[in-house]
Amino acid sequence: MLMDKNDLKCALCGNTVTFRYKSMEEWNISGYLCSICYEKKLTDFYISPDRKDVVKR
Ligand SMILES: [Zn+2]
Repeated sequence: MLMDKNDLKCALCGNTVTFRYKSMEEWNISGYLCSICYEKKLTDFYISPDRKDVVKR
């Protein structure tokens, strides 16, 4: 078997992930993300109007 445990795929785009970013529970994604998708999700998450209650200023 040539399955490499470290050869993980991004849960969103399917690219091989060299540095894995753990997805947040709120995103409902199982698995890891690449840096691009992680940043994208992070941005989406923090500008989302649905989570006013989490923002504290
Ligand atoms: Zn990705």
